[in-house]
Amino acid sequence: MNDTGTAIAWFRRDLRLTDNPALSAACEHARNVIALYVHAPEEDGEWAPGGASRWWLHHSLARLDESLRVRGGRLTIRRGTSLETLLAVARETGATRVYWNRLYDPARVAHDTQVKAALREAGLHCESFNAALLHEPWEVRTGQGVPYRVFTPFWKACAARLDALPRPLPTPDRIAAPPAIVASLALDELELRPRIRWDAGLHEAWMPGEAGALAQLESFASGAMARYSDGRNRPDLPETSRLSPYLHFGEVGPRQCLAAARNAVAERPSSRGSADSFVRELGWREFAHHLLHHFPQTPTAPLDTRFDAFPWDPNDAWLEAWQRGRTGYPIVDAGMRELWHTGWMHNRVRMIAASLFTKNLRQPWLKGAQWFWDTLVDADLANNTLGWQWTAGCGADAAPFFRIFNPVLQTERFDPERVYLRRWLPELARLPDKWIHCPWDAPAAVLAEAGVELGRTYPRPIIDFRASREAALAAYGSIKR
Ligand SMILES: Cc1cc2nc3c(=O)[nH]c(=O)nc-3n(C[C@H](O)[C@H](O)[C@H](O)COP(=O)(O)OP(=O)(O)OC[C@H]3O[C@@H](n4cnc5c(N)ncnc54)[C@H](O)[C@@H]3O)c2cc1C
Repeated sequence: MNDTGTAIAWFRRDLRLTDNPALSAACEHARNVIALYVHAPEEDGEWAPGGASRWWLHHSLARLDESLRVRGGRLTIRRGTSLETLLAVARETGATRVYWNRLYDPARVAHDTQVKAALREAGLHCESFNAALLHEPWEVRTGQGVPYRVFTPFWKACAARLDALPRPLPTPDRIAAPPAIVASLALDELELRPRIRWDAGLHEAWMPGEAGALAQLESFASGAMARYSDGRNRPDLPETSRLSPYLHFGEVGPRQCLAAARNAVAERPSSRGSADSFVRELGWREFAHHLLHHFPQTPTAPLDTRFDAFPWDPNDAWLEAWQRGRTGYPIVDAGMRELWHTGWMHNRVRMIAASLFTKNLRQPWLKGAQWFWDTLVDADLANNTLGWQWTAGCGADAAPFFRIFNPVLQTERFDPERVYLRRWLPELARLPDKWIHCPWDAPAAVLAEAGVELGRTYPRPIIDFRASREAALAAYGSIKR
């Protein structure tokens, strides 16, 4: 150890002890480590964490403090601007070093650059690391030296470099807090949890924190990962990893996920195809960060600037019906209720719900992105921006605009026994498989038998699918010209 007294490990969205390069560097270079969390949501600009993310953050910070204590440390919590707080903590404790892992959201990048310069100016040693991505967004470039806009060649370039990645770092054995107590707020003082308790569904669905993340990764790697290629599109089955919130908050890192996928293949070579598909999805996450880095305007502006002139048709009543899961399209309503209840929605259903919203209802994609931002536990600026612009047809490598998801056909294909619909739409549960996903077509006697009264117990479709599809294509034609 190159011992220099006290170091600050500044935690943000890297709420883990294993494979945490900033924490490992602090432990390596200092006798005492102050594990510091500074609550500064203003520094996220327009994208301060929404309600579901704040809930997750509260529990994740609590778990982080517990694991630090097991190793001789503790979490110090402060509120204020990051720079002033880091300087104050360094002054109070005599810390001479500050280590952190990088964030990639445009507001944070600009801010961190200033923080680093000011800390160095104040005579502190500072270093930042990559804990969140397989590759830094600026490392991967086309042959012409420009950023990628298409996923397949981007991933080909990344995949060729996977073998050169370092193995995940071990958990530091000891993270010794300084002998004198460093003043800290109590976690509850951050008021991250909702005052009105709407979070029961989140509690049922999730176990935030590093232990929860590792348990989830372990259970996925030893089970569903082997079936992922086929299973990943089925919202009725627990076949995806559900690692997205853990990855967003950095309770597990992508290098650990890659290592788990490789170990699973070593144990079960027949799972290679599925493990590769899973790693490729991590590639979409990398691509999203690549795009956000190179096109920092995209959280609010379409990458394809022709869409600046798109005739969106904002309608508050439709926005609310969609948010509440009352569009009259069962697969969309099931998804929106899953989101409200658990803070998560299956990827296939996210695409269907976003397609109905942006194409059939012609609501501005940003309104949908903002709702997801507030309600998802995995709300992530890079992934959410990519997901919305991809579905709306205005992003990089986007789905062609004419691909408008048909909610009825999608249900038949991906929820073949209607298990997902029945789980989230109890008012339709007694309808037979033939009609539950298109109750407007069901004979009156069938509806009556199942206790369904359209317009009263369940809404009629708020828009005609076919006519709205034609209208969306005509609107697209107007900007294409
Ligand atoms: C409209 C829309 C909005 C979205 N918003 C978000 C968001 O805010 N946060 C978020 O993490 N994902 C978002 N996604 C992507 C995707 O739906 C989720 O990452 C996925 O459903 C998470 O479930 P999982 O962890 O079981 O995924 P798995 O299928 O197990 O995939 C493993 C990991 O790969 C990453 N990943 C998978 N698919 C994608 C993708 N399409 N784009 C980027 N990364 C991906 C995630 O980190 C995920 O945890 C959005 C997709 C759409 C269509």
